[in-house]
Amino acid sequence: MTELSALSSVPSAARDAVLKFYFGPMDCGKSTLALQMNYNHGRQGRRGLVLTKHDRSGGPKVTSRIGLGLDAIEVDDSIDLVELVRGHDRIDYLICDEACFYTLEQIEQLADLVDEHGVDVYAFGLASDFRSRMFPAAQRLFELADEVCRLQVEVLCWCGRPGLLNARVVGGAMARSGEQVVIGDTDASPVRYQVLCRRHHRGGQLAVPSADEAALGAEAGRSQENLSASA
Ligand SMILES: [Zn+2]
Repeated sequence: MTELSALSSVPSAARDAVLKFYFGPMDCGKSTLALQMNYNHGRQGRRGLVLTKHDRSGGPKVTSRIGLGLDAIEVDDSIDLVELVRGHDRIDYLICDEACFYTLEQIEQLADLVDEHGVDVYAFGLASDFRSRMFPAAQRLFELADEVCRLQVEVLCWCGRPGLLNARVVGGAMARSGEQVVIGDTDASPVRYQVLCRRHHRGGQLAVPSADEAALGAEAGRSQENLSASA
């Protein structure tokens, strides 16, 4: 066996590419950060692709609640992400918004891009669904990522505690079962989502309980909706 010094055994190539996963509930600023990151890398002369899936705009765009937007590649279940990158001249990084909705195979492809092709991957998404269960793709990202960051940009439950979990609200009541992915918060959908703290997600309380809640129930539900829409 050849003796190598600690330094000579390390290839002199530049740093390894990285796989990072940024997660948080809706409205915590994931898409805004994704767009900011793309802008910063672009200014450094790096070339990247912006990918999304089921963006709130309903189209192949990354849009943020605060009004920023950018054209993006819509990732459907059949896209091979390694092939996608190979089809481009030179790609230094990927911004993957809504990565929680990718297939497990696509998460493996992201890891391949990092390890085999030197592409930095910045993935953004929800960790858990409306039942507070991990999305399979998010779980895989937790297992594989070099770095996992929880984003907490002042999204609060109605009680003032940090909002950690997304509740699905159907007809004014919190849903506990159903399909894992249902698009909501659109005019056409009876489904909306609301961020709650752990305590109130587990207890199923969508608003402040009070004596006249019954009388004002419908009203409270509506104003809560407005609050979450403007948050
Ligand atoms: Zn709460």
